[in-house]
Amino acid sequence: MKLAIYDDNRLGAVDVEAATITPLTGPPGSADPDALGAGWWVRMCRDLHAGLVRPAAAGPPVPLRDVTLRAPVLNPGKVIACASNYAAHVAEMRDQVLTRTGMSTDSWLLDFDVFLKAPSSIVGPGIAIELPAEAVAAAQEVHHEAELALVIGRGGRDIPVGEAADHVLGYLIALDLTVRGKGDRSRRKSHPTFTPVGPWLTTADEVPDWAGLTIDLAVNGDRRQHVSTGDMLVGVPEIVSHASRVMGLQPGDLILTGAPPGVGPIHPGDTVDVVIDRLGSIRHPVVAECRPRS
Ligand code: MN
Repeated sequence: MKLAIYDDNRLGAVDVEAATITPLTGPPGSADPDALGAGWWVRMCRDLHAGLVRPAAAGPPVPLRDVTLRAPVLNPGKVIACASNYAAHVAEMRDQVLTRTGMSTDSWLLDFDVFLKAPSSIVGPGIAIELPAEAVAAAQEVHHEAELALVIGRGGRDIPVGEAADHVLGYLIALDLTVRGKGDRSRRKSHPTFTPVGPWLTTADEVPDWAGLTIDLAVNGDRRQHVSTGDMLVGVPEIVSHASRVMGLQPGDLILTGAPPGVGPIHPGDTVDVVIDRLGSIRHPVVAECRPRS
């Protein structure tokens, strides 16, 4: 099933071939358009995975073009991201850091670990990526990182690698946007709009092999990132197991699996396209920070 959240936070199932979305009757609370109104999405992640609920069609299919897709996650307790997880990206970052700073990277970046991004950085398909004014003023680059992401169904702590797949509800596309430079990594990756995800959540039963996917990212039509998920240094089961050990996992948690090689700067006026086969595509324009802070 391809679960989508659309319009005023409605739940739907996408039929890619027919290019339609069927409204679904979600769990109690899912008719509330206020994203803060209920933890219905998180509860659904848990109960759907456990087979306790089966969303039913609540109306006829409607053309996808007639709805606005939202981020296919709602109120995740955590957004967990992975440090560099492809050998070629580790190499390019090592070279860049050495060139710019002359510092040693022996103890930096090379040991796999997870970190947190603010859930408030999540936006859905099509939403403009805003480059923070202070980063632009400081001539800091904002880089794109196109990543395979997943949503946790059943939570847990100390999940063995061999059981990790049982905790993955489904997969989706994510962009992990990053201000390069000094400062805490979580802050540099948590600006509003810095975690675009979409276009929908493809349940794990439709992704028989997480290592058999291809990630493609293009900026203004020029391919910048192209990698097989099979080239990950640390695989999905190991990531889930590790995250469950160091911080525990809860239903609805979003995990980004790490950057492929080919990261690079984006600028106002750019258009970023990410495609992962089986999971769909997302497209985001890039703008200078435009919203008043409040
Ligand atoms: Mn990343």
